[in-house]
Formats: sequence, structure tokens, C-alpha cells
Amino acid sequence: MSDTNFAVIYDLHSHTTASDGLLSPEELVHRAHEMRVGTLAITDHDTTEAIPAAQAEIARAGLPLTLITGVEISTLWENHEIHIVGLNVDIQHPALCQFLDEQKQRRQLRAQMIAERLDKAQIPGAWEGALALAEGGAVTRAHFARFLIAQGKADTIGGVFKKYLARGKTGYVPPQWCTIDQAIDVIHHSGGKAVVAHPGRYNLSAKWLKRLLAYFAQCGGDAMEVAQCQQAPDERTQLAAYAQQYGLLASQGSDFHGPCPWIELGRKLWLPAGVEGVWKAWEPSPNSKERAV
Ligand code: AMP
Ligand code: MN
Ligand code: MN
Ligand code: MN
Repeated sequence: MSDTNFAVIYDLHSHTTASDGLLSPEELVHRAHEMRVGTLAITDHDTTEAIPAAQAEIARAGLPLTLITGVEISTLWENHEIHIVGLNVDIQHPALCQFLDEQKQRRQLRAQMIAERLDKAQIPGAWEGALALAEGGAVTRAHFARFLIAQGKADTIGGVFKKYLARGKTGYVPPQWCTIDQAIDVIHHSGGKAVVAHPGRYNLSAKWLKRLLAYFAQCGGDAMEVAQCQQAPDERTQLAAYAQQYGLLASQGSDFHGPCPWIELGRKLWLPAGVEGVWKAWEPSPNSKERAV
């Protein structure tokens, strides 16, 4: 399947101004529709605050777009920051709300510590700067990156992470995120499916990546992202093979954060043969009267 035919395009990973995305929920759903996305998941970092505004705008404008309620949860596993996407969660579920409140507090605390470290390194004002850029949304390292670029400390987001925000650098603070099994648990409790986000982006060796996927599957995780718009073709094939090996459904998403030349909503999102889309978990298969999962 390619993204040039008329099949529904699923984009199950995207961000808004509720975390480190640059578009408001309203702008995002319009852009998704323009890009011919038929099913969009909004998956902000540790928050679902964009969802109601996105739902309201889809209804108001009559957009033919299915919105999947999502969230991207930051976890810590074997000293690696692993992101777990929850899809189709009940955003009102008390367990999820309480859990996301705790993650928010962890985020705030870490952001303050990042700012303190930058202050000690003769870069004052980072807390106020990042907070202002977050405009009331969750404060992420991406906001610190934008602040540091505005201060002339680096030219690019990648460069600023390398110099200040990556592990071991001046502004790095080891995070206190929840564990993978806690993330899976709260996603399941709130009715959702748990997905390993961008498995190719953790700089894990094949051995460690397999260990992660085996652990995730053992904890009852449901799916893993296989397709992103920016990846080598062999990575997609390799990830699809892992999905089959570990009995996981496959997901696909742009991880869109804002307009840029190389990442776009819905772009190049298709799954290799042999894996099943995670949406089979909530959509009845067209060829069968039964639900697939
Ligand atoms: P946080 O959840 O606060 O650790 O922030 C992580 C976010 O920062 C990610 O979701 C990305 O949007 C961004 N980010 C992390 N590492 C990089 C990088 N090397 N280059 C560009 N953006 C990055
Ligand atoms: Mn992000
Ligand atoms: Mn992520
Ligand atoms: Mn993301």
C-alpha cells in the first residue's frame, strides 16, 4: 500500500502546543485534513489537554477526520528514556488523569533543575524563557532548545541538544519518569492500546532493542511503531520483522511537531506486508464480522 492511493491515511503520532508542537489543536486538525489524513492521533508529551479543542474544531468545521485520543508517555527503562504512546485512551479516566498529573510534576521539577544547571553555566533566564515558549503547555526540552537558539547559543535544534541538552551535557538532568509497565498499565486501565514510539530513535544496539521489545511484549504491550516518514527503508522492514517476532501490532506516525521540509502529517506512512495495523484493535476488519483483536 502506498500513500498515493485512496485508502485512509493513518497518522497515529503528532504534537500540538499542549506540549512541544508548534500548531494549536485547531491548526493541527485542519493541516491533517489538508494532508489527506483520515485518522489522526494527537499524542502530546504526558498530556491530553489538546484533545477537547481538537474534537470541538473537527465538529465545528465538519472535517471528515477521525480523531484518536492519544498521549506519549515518557518512561525510564534500563537508564534509557523510552516513549510509550497510548492510543484510544479515555482522557477522563481518573487513573490516567492522576498519572498524568504526576508526570507533569516530574516534568516541572526537571525543567527547574535544567534551568538551574544552565544558570550555573552562565545562561540565566532559561526557566522563564522555556515557560514563556511553552505558553501554558507541558514544558519539554524542546522549549529549552528553542530558548537557547533564541539566545544565540546554537543554530539548530539538533545542535543545541548535542551541546546542552543531551545526556551528560551542561543542561542535562537525569529524569525521574515512570516505568514502562506503569505506562502500559495506566493506558490499559483507561481503555487504550500501548505502543512503543519510534524504536529506531533510541540509539540502541540490535541486542538492546530486541531486549526492549521482548520486555514490552512480556509486560502486555500491544504494538510498536514501524513506519515513520523519515527512516531508511531497511529500518521499516527490520521493525516490521521485530513486530512479527514479538507478536506486536504495528503502528505508524509522523511525530509531527510543526511545519518543516522533511516531516509532514501523513507522509510516507504505510506498513510492510506481514504486520497488522494497531487500528485493527479498534476497527472491525472489512473482511470479517469479528473484531480482529
Ligand atoms: P522531553 O520530553 O522534555 O525530554 O523532550 C523531548 C523532546 O525534545 C522530544 O520529543 C523532541 O521533540 C525533542 N528532542 C529530543 N532530542 C532531540 C534532538 N536530538 N533533536 C531535536 N529534537 C529533540
Ligand atoms: Mn517532542
Ligand atoms: Mn518521542
Ligand atoms: Mn512524539
